[in-house]
Amino acid sequence: MMSEFKPILAIVIPCFNEELCLNSTISKLLEVLHVLAEKDKISDKSYLYLVDDGSTDNTWNIISEFHKSNKNVKGAKFIKNFGNQKALIAGYEGVREIGCDCAVSIDADLQQDEWAIEKFTEKFLEGADIVSGIRNSRDTDTFFKKTTAILFYKLMYILGAKIPMNHSDFRLVSKRALDIMELYPEKYLFLRGFFNDVGLKTAYVNFDVKPRFAGESKFNFVKLMGLALNGITSFSVVPLRIISVLGFVMAAVSFLIGAETVIEKIFFHNTPNGWATNIILLCFFGGIQICCLGIIGEYVGQVYREVKGRPRYIKETELK
Ligand code: UDP
Ligand code: MG
Repeated sequence: MMSEFKPILAIVIPCFNEELCLNSTISKLLEVLHVLAEKDKISDKSYLYLVDDGSTDNTWNIISEFHKSNKNVKGAKFIKNFGNQKALIAGYEGVREIGCDCAVSIDADLQQDEWAIEKFTEKFLEGADIVSGIRNSRDTDTFFKKTTAILFYKLMYILGAKIPMNHSDFRLVSKRALDIMELYPEKYLFLRGFFNDVGLKTAYVNFDVKPRFAGESKFNFVKLMGLALNGITSFSVVPLRIISVLGFVMAAVSFLIGAETVIEKIFFHNTPNGWATNIILLCFFGGIQICCLGIIGEYVGQVYREVKGRPRYIKETELK
Protein backbone atom coordinates (compact mmCIF):
# COMPACT_ATOMS: atom_id res chain seq x y z
CA MET A 1 0.00 0.00 0.00
CA MET A 2 2.66 2.48 1.13
CA SER A 3 4.92 1.72 -1.82
CA GLU A 4 2.15 2.67 -4.23
CA PHE A 5 1.80 6.08 -2.65
CA LYS A 6 2.67 8.66 -5.27
CA PRO A 7 2.83 12.09 -3.67
CA ILE A 8 1.62 15.23 -5.37
CA LEU A 9 4.70 17.42 -5.53
CA ALA A 10 4.39 21.19 -5.84
CA ILE A 11 7.46 23.16 -6.88
CA VAL A 12 7.44 26.71 -5.51
CA ILE A 13 9.42 29.32 -7.44
CA PRO A 14 9.75 32.95 -6.28
CA CYS A 15 10.33 35.23 -9.29
CA PHE A 16 11.34 38.85 -9.38
CA ASN A 17 12.06 40.26 -12.84
CA GLU A 18 13.11 36.89 -14.21
CA GLU A 19 11.95 37.21 -17.84
CA LEU A 20 15.36 36.13 -19.12
CA CYS A 21 15.34 32.88 -17.14
CA LEU A 22 11.75 31.88 -16.91
CA ASN A 23 11.02 30.16 -20.25
CA SER A 24 13.93 27.81 -19.82
CA THR A 25 13.35 27.32 -16.07
CA ILE A 26 9.69 26.36 -16.43
CA SER A 27 10.49 23.93 -19.26
CA LYS A 28 13.29 22.29 -17.28
CA LEU A 29 11.16 21.92 -14.14
CA LEU A 30 8.23 20.48 -16.13
CA GLU A 31 10.72 17.99 -17.52
CA VAL A 32 11.75 17.03 -13.96
CA LEU A 33 8.08 16.51 -12.99
CA HIS A 34 7.51 14.47 -16.15
CA VAL A 35 10.50 12.19 -15.59
CA LEU A 36 9.72 11.66 -11.88
CA ALA A 37 6.09 10.82 -12.74
CA GLU A 38 7.27 8.36 -15.42
CA LYS A 39 9.43 6.70 -12.78
CA ASP A 40 6.31 6.45 -10.57
CA LYS A 41 8.01 8.53 -7.88
CA ILE A 42 5.43 11.31 -7.87
CA SER A 43 1.84 11.79 -9.00
CA ASP A 44 1.19 13.21 -12.47
CA LYS A 45 -0.95 15.81 -10.72
CA SER A 46 2.27 17.43 -9.50
CA TYR A 47 2.65 21.06 -10.53
CA LEU A 48 4.69 24.25 -10.53
CA TYR A 49 3.63 27.28 -8.50
CA LEU A 50 5.35 30.51 -9.48
CA VAL A 51 5.07 33.57 -7.28
CA ASP A 52 5.66 36.80 -9.17
CA ASP A 53 7.05 39.12 -6.49
CA GLY A 54 5.85 42.37 -8.11
CA SER A 55 7.99 42.12 -11.25
CA THR A 56 8.03 45.08 -13.59
CA ASP A 57 9.07 43.08 -16.65
CA ASN A 58 7.46 40.29 -18.66
CA THR A 59 7.59 37.69 -15.89
CA TRP A 60 3.84 37.43 -15.28
CA ASN A 61 3.03 37.23 -19.00
CA ILE A 62 5.36 34.26 -19.36
CA ILE A 63 3.71 32.49 -16.42
CA SER A 64 0.18 33.13 -17.77
CA GLU A 65 1.16 31.91 -21.24
CA PHE A 66 2.44 28.62 -19.83
CA HIS A 67 -0.69 28.30 -17.70
CA LYS A 68 -2.93 28.63 -20.78
CA SER A 69 -1.46 25.53 -22.40
CA ASN A 70 -0.55 23.56 -19.26
CA LYS A 71 -2.67 23.68 -16.12
CA ASN A 72 0.21 22.19 -14.14
CA VAL A 73 1.81 25.61 -14.30
CA LYS A 74 0.08 27.67 -11.62
CA GLY A 75 1.01 30.87 -9.91
CA ALA A 76 0.19 34.09 -8.13
CA LYS A 77 1.16 37.69 -8.68
CA PHE A 78 1.90 40.16 -5.86
CA ILE A 79 0.69 43.74 -6.21
CA LYS A 80 4.22 44.93 -5.38
CA ASN A 81 7.62 43.62 -4.41
CA PHE A 82 7.48 42.08 -0.93
CA GLY A 83 10.83 40.31 -1.03
CA ASN A 84 12.00 36.76 -1.58
CA GLN A 85 11.04 35.41 1.87
CA LYS A 86 7.45 36.64 1.52
CA ALA A 87 7.25 35.18 -1.98
CA LEU A 88 8.40 31.84 -0.59
CA ILE A 89 5.87 31.95 2.24
CA ALA A 90 3.12 32.86 -0.24
CA GLY A 91 4.22 29.93 -2.38
CA TYR A 92 4.03 27.48 0.52
CA GLU A 93 0.64 28.84 1.58
CA GLY A 94 -0.64 28.80 -1.98
CA VAL A 95 0.25 25.16 -2.65
CA ARG A 96 -1.08 24.13 0.76
CA GLU A 97 -4.42 25.65 -0.21
CA ILE A 98 -4.47 24.11 -3.68
CA GLY A 99 -3.38 20.79 -2.24
CA CYS A 100 -0.12 18.80 -2.31
CA ASP A 101 1.68 16.14 -0.29
CA CYS A 102 5.01 17.92 -0.37
CA ALA A 103 6.50 21.13 -1.74
CA VAL A 104 9.99 21.95 -3.01
CA SER A 105 11.21 25.54 -3.27
CA ILE A 106 13.81 26.48 -5.85
CA ASP A 107 15.15 29.76 -7.32
CA ALA A 108 13.93 30.99 -10.68
CA ASP A 109 17.48 31.16 -12.02
CA LEU A 110 17.90 27.39 -11.37
CA GLN A 111 21.23 27.95 -9.65
CA GLN A 112 20.35 24.89 -7.64
CA ASP A 113 20.57 21.53 -9.36
CA GLU A 114 16.96 20.74 -10.25
CA TRP A 115 17.69 17.02 -10.51
CA ALA A 116 18.44 16.92 -6.78
CA ILE A 117 14.64 17.09 -6.43
CA GLU A 118 14.57 13.37 -7.18
CA LYS A 119 16.70 12.72 -4.09
CA PHE A 120 14.47 15.06 -2.09
CA THR A 121 11.37 13.01 -2.94
CA GLU A 122 13.17 9.76 -2.10
CA LYS A 123 14.00 11.07 1.37
CA PHE A 124 10.40 12.23 1.73
CA LEU A 125 9.11 8.76 0.85
CA GLU A 126 11.50 7.34 3.43
CA GLY A 127 9.70 9.42 6.04
CA ALA A 128 11.41 12.80 6.28
CA ASP A 129 9.14 15.82 6.78
CA ILE A 130 11.82 18.26 5.78
CA VAL A 131 14.64 17.70 3.32
CA SER A 132 17.22 20.48 3.36
CA GLY A 133 19.47 21.20 0.43
CA ILE A 134 23.06 21.79 1.48
CA ARG A 135 25.27 23.48 -1.09
CA ASN A 136 28.46 21.66 -1.94
CA SER A 137 30.47 24.81 -2.37
CA ARG A 138 30.10 28.53 -2.66
CA ASP A 139 32.35 28.85 -5.68
CA THR A 140 29.75 30.79 -7.64
CA ASP A 141 29.47 33.45 -4.94
CA THR A 142 31.59 36.54 -4.73
CA PHE A 143 34.28 36.65 -2.04
CA PHE A 144 32.23 39.19 -0.13
CA LYS A 145 29.04 37.10 -0.14
CA LYS A 146 30.99 34.00 0.82
CA THR A 147 32.67 35.60 3.85
CA THR A 148 29.54 37.37 5.09
CA ALA A 149 27.54 34.15 4.73
CA ILE A 150 30.08 32.18 6.76
CA LEU A 151 30.15 34.90 9.43
CA PHE A 152 26.35 34.90 9.58
CA TYR A 153 26.05 31.13 10.08
CA LYS A 154 28.82 31.15 12.69
CA LEU A 155 27.09 33.98 14.55
CA MET A 156 23.70 32.24 14.38
CA TYR A 157 25.33 29.13 15.77
CA ILE A 158 26.83 30.98 18.72
CA LEU A 159 23.48 32.69 19.33
CA GLY A 160 21.71 29.38 19.60
CA ALA A 161 19.96 28.94 16.23
CA LYS A 162 21.74 25.89 14.90
CA ILE A 163 21.31 26.31 11.16
CA PRO A 164 23.71 24.08 9.23
CA MET A 165 26.42 25.87 7.26
CA ASN A 166 25.63 26.36 3.57
CA HIS A 167 21.94 25.95 4.18
CA SER A 168 19.72 27.27 1.42
CA ASP A 169 16.09 27.87 0.61
CA PHE A 170 16.24 24.85 -1.70
CA ARG A 171 14.27 22.33 0.35
CA LEU A 172 11.37 19.94 0.44
CA VAL A 173 8.70 20.26 3.10
CA SER A 174 5.81 17.92 3.76
CA LYS A 175 2.14 18.85 3.98
CA ARG A 176 2.51 18.37 7.71
CA ALA A 177 5.32 20.94 7.91
CA LEU A 178 3.17 23.37 5.92
CA ASP A 179 0.27 22.84 8.32
CA ILE A 180 2.58 23.58 11.26
CA MET A 181 3.88 26.70 9.51
CA GLU A 182 0.33 28.06 9.60
CA LEU A 183 0.49 27.95 13.41
CA TYR A 184 3.33 30.48 13.36
CA PRO A 185 1.60 33.79 12.72
CA GLU A 186 4.72 35.96 12.89
CA LYS A 187 4.91 38.17 9.82
CA TYR A 188 8.67 38.08 9.43
CA LEU A 189 9.02 34.34 9.82
CA PHE A 190 12.63 33.40 9.09
CA LEU A 191 12.11 30.24 7.05
CA ARG A 192 15.59 28.75 7.39
CA GLY A 193 15.44 29.07 11.15
CA PHE A 194 11.84 27.92 11.37
CA PHE A 195 12.16 24.70 9.37
CA ASN A 196 15.38 23.88 11.15
CA ASP A 197 13.94 24.51 14.59
CA VAL A 198 10.42 23.13 14.31
CA GLY A 199 11.27 19.62 15.45
CA LEU A 200 10.22 17.55 12.45
CA LYS A 201 12.26 14.71 11.01
CA THR A 202 14.87 16.25 8.73
CA ALA A 203 17.09 14.78 6.04
CA TYR A 204 19.88 16.46 4.08
CA VAL A 205 20.80 16.30 0.43
CA ASN A 206 23.92 17.86 -1.05
CA PHE A 207 23.63 19.68 -4.32
CA ASP A 208 25.84 21.61 -6.70
CA VAL A 209 25.42 25.30 -7.30
CA LYS A 210 25.62 26.57 -10.86
CA PRO A 211 26.22 30.14 -11.94
CA ARG A 212 23.08 32.15 -12.75
CA PHE A 213 22.54 31.53 -16.48
CA ALA A 214 20.69 34.75 -17.29
CA GLY A 215 19.79 38.05 -15.67
CA GLU A 216 21.33 39.55 -12.55
CA SER A 217 21.21 38.68 -8.88
CA LYS A 218 18.20 40.33 -7.25
CA PHE A 219 19.96 40.53 -3.91
CA ASN A 220 22.06 43.48 -2.89
CA PHE A 221 23.96 44.19 0.29
CA VAL A 222 21.05 45.98 1.95
CA LYS A 223 18.60 43.13 1.27
CA LEU A 224 21.08 40.52 2.53
CA MET A 225 21.78 42.59 5.63
CA GLY A 226 18.03 42.83 6.29
CA LEU A 227 17.66 39.07 5.92
CA ALA A 228 20.53 38.45 8.33
CA LEU A 229 19.28 40.92 10.96
CA ASN A 230 15.77 39.51 10.74
CA GLY A 231 17.19 36.02 11.07
CA ILE A 232 19.03 36.95 14.23
CA THR A 233 16.39 39.07 15.95
CA SER A 234 13.55 36.68 15.20
CA PHE A 235 15.43 33.64 16.41
CA SER A 236 17.64 34.69 19.28
CA VAL A 237 17.40 36.94 22.31
CA VAL A 238 21.02 36.26 23.23
CA PRO A 239 22.19 39.73 22.01
CA LEU A 240 19.81 41.31 24.52
CA ARG A 241 21.19 39.12 27.26
CA ILE A 242 24.74 40.06 26.31
CA ILE A 243 23.74 43.70 26.76
CA SER A 244 22.45 43.03 30.27
CA VAL A 245 25.62 41.22 31.26
CA LEU A 246 27.75 43.91 29.67
CA GLY A 247 25.78 46.60 31.49
CA PHE A 248 26.26 44.80 34.77
CA VAL A 249 30.01 44.39 34.30
CA MET A 250 30.36 48.03 33.22
CA ALA A 251 28.41 49.21 36.23
CA ALA A 252 30.60 47.17 38.57
CA VAL A 253 33.79 48.51 36.96
CA SER A 254 32.52 52.11 37.11
CA PHE A 255 31.60 51.68 40.76
CA LEU A 256 35.11 50.44 41.59
CA ILE A 257 36.73 53.30 39.69
CA GLY A 258 34.42 55.76 41.44
CA ALA A 259 35.24 54.32 44.85
CA GLU A 260 38.91 54.47 44.09
CA THR A 261 38.69 58.15 43.09
CA VAL A 262 36.83 59.04 46.25
CA ILE A 263 39.38 57.24 48.41
CA GLU A 264 42.26 59.01 46.64
CA LYS A 265 40.56 62.36 47.07
CA ILE A 266 39.83 61.93 50.77
CA PHE A 267 42.96 60.20 51.98
CA PHE A 268 45.73 61.25 49.61
CA HIS A 269 44.51 64.70 48.50
CA ASN A 270 46.18 64.42 45.12
CA THR A 271 43.70 65.47 42.40
CA PRO A 272 44.82 63.48 39.37
CA ASN A 273 45.14 65.29 36.05
CA GLY A 274 43.73 62.39 34.03
CA TRP A 275 42.41 64.22 31.01
CA ALA A 276 43.25 61.36 28.62
CA THR A 277 41.65 58.80 30.88
CA ASN A 278 38.49 60.90 30.92
CA ILE A 279 38.27 61.13 27.17
CA ILE A 280 38.99 57.43 26.67
CA LEU A 281 36.37 56.40 29.20
CA LEU A 282 33.87 58.82 27.72
CA CYS A 283 34.33 57.49 24.18
CA PHE A 284 34.39 53.89 25.34
CA PHE A 285 31.18 54.05 27.33
CA GLY A 286 29.52 56.25 24.71
CA GLY A 287 30.34 53.70 22.02
CA ILE A 288 29.11 50.77 24.06
CA GLN A 289 25.88 52.59 24.87
CA ILE A 290 25.13 53.45 21.26
CA CYS A 291 25.83 49.83 20.20
CA CYS A 292 23.51 48.51 22.88
CA LEU A 293 20.81 50.97 21.91
CA GLY A 294 21.15 49.78 18.32
CA ILE A 295 20.68 46.16 19.30
CA ILE A 296 17.67 46.97 21.46
CA GLY A 297 16.37 49.08 18.58
CA GLU A 298 16.49 46.06 16.26
CA TYR A 299 14.28 44.10 18.65
CA VAL A 300 11.93 47.02 19.20
CA GLY A 301 11.69 47.27 15.42
CA GLN A 302 10.86 43.57 15.20
CA VAL A 303 8.08 44.00 17.79
CA TYR A 304 6.84 47.13 16.03
CA ARG A 305 6.58 45.39 12.66
CA GLU A 306 4.81 42.38 14.15
CA VAL A 307 2.44 44.32 16.34
CA LYS A 308 1.10 46.33 13.40
CA GLY A 309 -0.28 43.04 12.14
CA ARG A 310 -0.05 43.97 8.49
CA PRO A 311 -0.51 41.20 5.94
CA ARG A 312 2.65 39.40 4.85
CA TYR A 313 1.82 40.01 1.22
CA ILE A 314 -1.10 40.88 -1.03
CA LYS A 315 -1.87 38.94 -4.17
CA GLU A 316 -3.20 40.73 -7.20
CA THR A 317 -4.25 37.60 -9.12
CA GLU A 318 -3.82 33.86 -8.92
CA LEU A 319 -3.83 31.12 -11.54
CA LYS A 320 -4.90 27.77 -10.09
N1 UDP B 1 13.55 37.08 -5.55
C1 UDP B 1 12.26 37.48 -5.20
N2 UDP B 1 12.08 38.74 -4.68
C2 UDP B 1 13.12 39.61 -4.48
C3 UDP B 1 14.43 39.17 -4.81
C4 UDP B 1 14.61 37.90 -5.34
O1 UDP B 1 11.30 36.73 -5.35
O2 UDP B 1 12.88 40.73 -4.02
C5 UDP B 1 13.75 35.72 -6.12
C6 UDP B 1 14.52 35.67 -7.42
O3 UDP B 1 13.68 35.86 -8.53
C7 UDP B 1 15.11 34.27 -7.39
C8 UDP B 1 15.35 34.05 -5.90
O4 UDP B 1 14.52 34.98 -5.22
O5 UDP B 1 14.19 33.30 -7.83
C9 UDP B 1 16.81 34.21 -5.55
O6 UDP B 1 17.27 35.45 -6.03
P1 UDP B 1 18.67 35.63 -6.75
O7 UDP B 1 18.96 34.47 -7.65
O8 UDP B 1 18.66 36.97 -7.40
O9 UDP B 1 19.63 35.65 -5.51
P2 UDP B 1 21.11 35.02 -5.37
O10 UDP B 1 21.09 33.67 -6.03
O11 UDP B 1 21.99 35.98 -6.05
O12 UDP B 1 21.31 34.95 -3.89
MG1 MG C 1 20.40 33.16 -7.83
